[in-house]
Amino acid sequence: MSFAELGLAPELVRALLERGYTEPTPIQAQAIPAVLGGQDLLAAAQTGTGKTAGFTLPILQRLSLIDFSRVNHKAKIRVLILTPTRELAAQVEESVREYSKHLDIKSMVMFGGVNINPQIQRLNRRVDILVATPGRLLDHIGQKTIDLSGIETLVLDEADRMLDMGFIRDIRRILPLLPAQRQNLLFSATFSDEIRELANGILKNPVSIEV
Ligand code: AMP
Repeated sequence: MSFAELGLAPELVRALLERGYTEPTPIQAQAIPAVLGGQDLLAAAQTGTGKTAGFTLPILQRLSLIDFSRVNHKAKIRVLILTPTRELAAQVEESVREYSKHLDIKSMVMFGGVNINPQIQRLNRRVDILVATPGRLLDHIGQKTIDLSGIETLVLDEADRMLDMGFIRDIRRILPLLPAQRQNLLFSATFSDEIRELANGILKNPVSIEV
């Protein structure tokens, strides 16, 4: 099965070919159709399986479809990807940039430990996809420098590490600020009771995949 056969747009397939990717990995073959179909997803996947492209590619495709209801509105952030560390946030946003290079999509990465002011300035311009660590996102929420009312898709990447690092309370504070009707994707390498509880609270009739 090729990327085009999975339903990805030519602009995405071209970006993948330029990077030398010709065939989807197993997690991509399962995740891409589910996410394109608008379903929630619960994925058991380790780093190195291609999980980042597994959620990024179908999200980019959904965003690139023209949504006429939004045309006359101020653009809002449409996708929120939460990661446990700044390194992972930077890596995920780099992938978003690479795969979206032939599309009109704007992304931003935010994490703590750096000056907040450039982030505030960046938020004044268009952001379609925000990749963030939970703590710094909450700082922006506290300062009212961010509007999450347009979020259509939430991704929790490496959810087990987020719980291990104590981000569960942060996540529970962020969730009520998102529109109730949205698509939710949760990726985790391991599945403890705590992860299952988190997943049960967030995901609606998810497609489950394991690789
Ligand atoms: P990840 O699991 O998302 O951290 O990705 C692991 C590595 O696999 C990254 O270096 C990706 O760039 C690479 N990768 C992702 N998808 C593919 C693919 N379909 N073919 C070849 N390499 C890939």
